[in-house]
Amino acid sequence: MENSGFKELHLSKEMQKAITDMGFEEATPIQAQSIPYMLEGKDVIGQAQTGTGKTAAFGIATLERIDPQNRGLQAVILCPTRELAIQVAEELKKLSKYKRGIEILPVYGGQPIDRQIRALRQGVQVIIGTPGRVMDHLDRRTLKMDGVKIIVLDEADEMLDMGFREDIEIIMRKIPKDRQTILFSATMSRPILDLTKKYQNKPQMIKLAHKEMTVPEVEQFYFEVKQQAKTEALCRLIDLHDLKLSLVFCNTKRRVDELVETLKSRGYLADGLHGDLQQRQRDTVMSKFRRREIEILVATDVAARGIDVGDIEAVFNYDIPPDDEYYLHRIGRTARAGKAGQAFTFVTGREVYRIRQIQQFTKTKIIAQKVPSISDVEDIRTNLLLEKVKGIVDAGHLGEYSNLVEKLTQEDYTSSEVAAALLKMVMGEGSTKEAKE
Ligand code: ADP
Ligand code: MG
Repeated sequence: MENSGFKELHLSKEMQKAITDMGFEEATPIQAQSIPYMLEGKDVIGQAQTGTGKTAAFGIATLERIDPQNRGLQAVILCPTRELAIQVAEELKKLSKYKRGIEILPVYGGQPIDRQIRALRQGVQVIIGTPGRVMDHLDRRTLKMDGVKIIVLDEADEMLDMGFREDIEIIMRKIPKDRQTILFSATMSRPILDLTKKYQNKPQMIKLAHKEMTVPEVEQFYFEVKQQAKTEALCRLIDLHDLKLSLVFCNTKRRVDELVETLKSRGYLADGLHGDLQQRQRDTVMSKFRRREIEILVATDVAARGIDVGDIEAVFNYDIPPDDEYYLHRIGRTARAGKAGQAFTFVTGREVYRIRQIQQFTKTKIIAQKVPSISDVEDIRTNLLLEKVKGIVDAGHLGEYSNLVEKLTQEDYTSSEVAAALLKMVMGEGSTKEAKE
């Protein structure tokens, strides 16, 4: 199925306008196929890979069905993590920009509950919450579910993986039976199907088969490296490409922790994300990453799922993913919104057969490359630096600095000696890092 315009979906003027402001030109396949059913009030199961716009799919449909005259709670959206709850709330706020009288509130653990209670009292029609915190509010009777007509389970697979099944079921039972139940997930599993059987009413299943999955526009490379040489290869590639924001995937929590330690000891701004971390720690790491205080985020698949950070320049498969679909989820974290991105995959020994499998699955080409040698890295970096120097000279405005050089030449240093010394200072930083190894 082709992508299609939003026009065919017959959305309200306010919604059309907000979508245009957001820069969405056409509906993604999951949006085009699921929104019509959701607008009719039908139960829906939507399955599509990460990054295909599932949030806007249920967001648009939900907001269109909210009655702004009614101040009571009408829709509950459950998300696995606080990070995602915030992200979804932000997207819904943008979508509701021109709709008057719709209040949206994220409710997640970690934020003082009193503040949420005060906000809820003002009248909120849509909440986006983590199951744990929603349960808290139910216990305190600060959420009234009797007017809820829509419930959305976003990233249902991850919520179940994280052990939220019981909470989800309790919440579902508090919501009137004639509600609309919407479930979105990147993958489908037995437990999810059980849940839909139990709580959905003749759901419309919309599944985007693998071949319809959009493979992001990412340049893909692989490197054959020995296990012990992976860290070195990673650092060289980061230095060579001068990467400011990268996401590195490892297959286990232990590998994440170990790699983060090594990278830190080499002077990189690195941090890790995996399921063992407390929610609060995960939030801290993510907000640092968003603020560019971390240049390398090392993560496991589950921890990074669903996270949408713009401007990630490269994704590294430090360990090759066990599942082809994971490969797509991973590399889809870069090259967001039409920007360029690169994916680098490390394979050890016999693992190279996985590259062939992944190529078949994704119908794309992954190009073999050699890990650059230290002298390659230095040559290329030196050239970049010299280009930069030329650029600064060409741009002019050096008056104040020229005076300083003048001062030194009066003390019997030549200007080329001064320039050489400054270059040594600037480039020295880089080479000491490498000289240590
Ligand atoms: P998913 O939940 O499927 O992983 P998201 O909802 O997080 O995906 O969407 C991924 C990105 O795509 C977001 O930055 C979102 O704003 C953007 N997006 C969503 N729908 C569209 C669209 N129709 N056109 C362009 N970009 C879109
Ligand atoms: Mg999502």
